[in-house]
Amino acid sequence: MAGPLGPRMLINGELVEASDKKTFPVYNPATREISANVPEATADDTNAAVAAAKAAFPEWSATDPSKRSACLKKLAALIRQHNAELARLEAISMGLPVSSFHYGHSAASQFDHYAEAWPRIQGQASVNTPKHITMTLRQPYGVVALIIPWNAPVHFFASKSAPALITGNTVVVKSSEKAPLAVARIAELIIEAGFPPGVFNVLSGHGLPSGQILSRHMDVRALSFTGSSRTGRLIQEEAARTNLKKVILELGGKSPAIVFDDANLAKAVEQTQFSIQANSGQVCMANSRIYVQKSVAPQFVEAFTKRFSAVRDGNPLEKETNHGPQADEVQYKNVLAFIEEGKKTGSLAVGGVGKLETTKGFFIEPTVFLDTPEDARIMKEEVFGPVVNINTFETEAEVIAKANNTEFGLYSSVYTRDINRAMRVAKALESGYVAINCTSPLTGRDMPFGGYKGSGQGREGLLYSMDNFLEVKSVIIQIEDE
Ligand code: NAD
Repeated sequence: MAGPLGPRMLINGELVEASDKKTFPVYNPATREISANVPEATADDTNAAVAAAKAAFPEWSATDPSKRSACLKKLAALIRQHNAELARLEAISMGLPVSSFHYGHSAASQFDHYAEAWPRIQGQASVNTPKHITMTLRQPYGVVALIIPWNAPVHFFASKSAPALITGNTVVVKSSEKAPLAVARIAELIIEAGFPPGVFNVLSGHGLPSGQILSRHMDVRALSFTGSSRTGRLIQEEAARTNLKKVILELGGKSPAIVFDDANLAKAVEQTQFSIQANSGQVCMANSRIYVQKSVAPQFVEAFTKRFSAVRDGNPLEKETNHGPQADEVQYKNVLAFIEEGKKTGSLAVGGVGKLETTKGFFIEPTVFLDTPEDARIMKEEVFGPVVNINTFETEAEVIAKANNTEFGLYSSVYTRDINRAMRVAKALESGYVAINCTSPLTGRDMPFGGYKGSGQGREGLLYSMDNFLEVKSVIIQIEDE
């Protein structure tokens, strides 16, 4: 449990329970024992957090950015110091093995990076209009809402709030109901870091009511969301119906990995297997569809299934565990429903079993389907579990068409030793990220990340996220002749 009083929310500089005292239980998905009771933000709590952020905005946005920077740096140091505790809290709320948790350090480096990035908050100047000087000013939006998912909460908490705060916005973060514990602990650290009251508010609770209220709130001027495409659409609708707030969406994926017959097969097996197994397949960019050229498919499938079946599931708090449970019962049932349907459309090569009865936790065996028709639901929708479909192809044109035959477009990868083919395919793939001879979750930290098509709108990344939280104002000045 986070702190002696249990997890609380941070509103206007105070750690608080919900105004109606209601909580919701968070269970350890490996044991189904209760981990904590967490405040469910009410409409009043949500409105109070926005009101506090609005009241704090004039002073925070006018503060010397090097002073804003000092708060971010202090928080970075505190998060780094508490990495092990945050790892434990994630393990007992959404089942991520502690052996895979590096998010305390990566979150701290986000706060450190943006703390130093304030000199880049600049506009442009021009003398292209005769007798005038023109310039642009970059200014914060005001109150920014940040709604984050459960699969990497500490990462998304930092990657959204740090750029929003350094640019002078005040924020209201809503954590996911499935994984609120580590974020609630960071809420306590925010006070220690010295942020003025109201600048940095943290709510816990479900999409309804707090997420929806933030989406339709007239005083929220920008909202950055990472989560499912379904929720992204709802948020966009609420924004359109109310104040047309700026909305940044990082949504789901159905990422293809393409393996040509000249590829380094051993490397392709190892990396594509890790991609779909990391965090038990609960990763937006996991390569959930693998297309292997027919001539090498038997070797690939044999090596892949052997490796995938060898994961070590178990208590996520134990260092040896590298395969945790699904995050909760809803995810578990959802993945098993996909597996049952998958058995009717494709051929099950390995796995396909839920282990609730034998382990008491929401563990699912790594599962591989072969030769599934491209129009099957499991090929189209995000499963978000340790489930992969491996299909074959013969020609480059055929595999590009198959890879692009999806409404998602987050991340794709291609394995081949032919540079011309690699670049042709990279150009043709409809996705925001293309990896050549490697795959997700690998990304270049200074590159933009985001989706084509239904995988989102906007881009995030060390060089991009500050732009998401800065308005652009043009100013024209007339110069009179002497
Ligand atoms: P989700 O959409 O169920 O929930 C995300 C957040 O939205 C939670 O905080 C939830 O409480 C909130 N929410 C739910 N209903 C809402 C509503 N009506 N209005 C406002 N907020 C609401 O997603 P999830 O299950 O937490 O996360 C998994 C999804 O996130 C997957 O689809 C995954 O691909 C995606 N994801 C995308 C990226 C990316 O960078 N593109 C990264 C990680 C996860």
